[in-house]
Amino acid sequence: MTEQMQCLLVNKRADGKIERAVTACPTSEVPEGDVLVRVAYSSLNYKDALAATGHPGIVSKFPHVPGIDAAGTVVESTSDKFKSGDKVIVTSFELGAARWGGYAEFVRVPADWVVPLPDGLTLRESMALGTAGFTAAMCLEAIERQTIGPDRGDMIAPQLGDVVVTGASGGVGTLAVAILSQIGYRVVAISGKPAANDLLKQLGAAEVLARDAVTDTSGKPLLKPRWAAAVDTVGGVVLGTLLRAMQPRGCVAACGLVGGESLPATVYPFILRGVTLAGIDSAQYPAGLREPIWRNLASKWKPKLLDKITTEVSLGGLEAKIQQILKGEIMGRVVVKIAGD
Ligand code: NDP
Repeated sequence: MTEQMQCLLVNKRADGKIERAVTACPTSEVPEGDVLVRVAYSSLNYKDALAATGHPGIVSKFPHVPGIDAAGTVVESTSDKFKSGDKVIVTSFELGAARWGGYAEFVRVPADWVVPLPDGLTLRESMALGTAGFTAAMCLEAIERQTIGPDRGDMIAPQLGDVVVTGASGGVGTLAVAILSQIGYRVVAISGKPAANDLLKQLGAAEVLARDAVTDTSGKPLLKPRWAAAVDTVGGVVLGTLLRAMQPRGCVAACGLVGGESLPATVYPFILRGVTLAGIDSAQYPAGLREPIWRNLASKWKPKLLDKITTEVSLGGLEAKIQQILKGEIMGRVVVKIAGD
């Protein structure tokens, strides 16, 4: 390990103002842990942008290095599970939040946070997926747990309808559209960006609708049953609308809050239509359940057009992308090249 490493450092000034810069800092500052990883790539998620602004819900101590995702090569390990030279993925838990994250040349983490890079993915591809892809996959699993599937047509819900994905042009959204379409669901993408229509259709969306299709403020306890399942990255009024517009025994996988943290809802969708609201918490998802998801993301769920939705930046190029994602303007995924393959 070198004595200094390049990183994106977020600091709080004495006057309380948050500042951030790409800088060299001593590698001795990297926290203790079982596995030291030389980072090849990281990625940009909405939560990273919040961490970069010093959001108190995410960052509790300064200086801080954001980056909830990292992929790279093991340099040192005190765990039997990993040895020097292994290629690995680290996502979520406290990475980039309570612990320095992937916007640095090195991360050191508990062994439980580390997943071996599965066959079928390069380090760069694993970060093109990153927490966003892992979350989209968790949403898919939640929907399938309710026995909703593209080939269902069974007694549980005779008229299997569309699966709706909100915030469709974002990181989680594009990957959910791509994965669900690829495995046979009819996907309706909801996007506030007319410019994303072509991309979403190429990813497999059968239809792309504007946000008002899932924004109902009528106050009606139930709406016309429309969706068999939903992946919701938006929350707020949109999540409340989706719940009221689900088909009997439909499932909403709720993972995000870009549109608000509130949930305007009544119990009617649950007690009259048997709707399931499935919460998705990729950060604390148990270590033992992570590897099977990554193996699926490396094989049957690997989006065919992953490259097409991926933009690569260096640490120096991150600032512009952070500004964009905070305004909801990003399309697809941003990979951050640290050392490269
Ligand atoms: P992105 O910024 O990449 O995507 C969010 C998308 O939501 C935007 O591109 C935009 O898509 C849409 N959007 C933005 N603002 C609004 C708004 N005010 N109202 C409605 N739609 C809006 O973010 P990510 O994909 O990284 O994350 C999405 C959400 O999921 C975030 O809230 C994030 O915190 C959460 N998340 C949760 C995880 C979990 O484990 N629970 C894990 C990962 C992410 P469009 O223009 O197409 O509508």
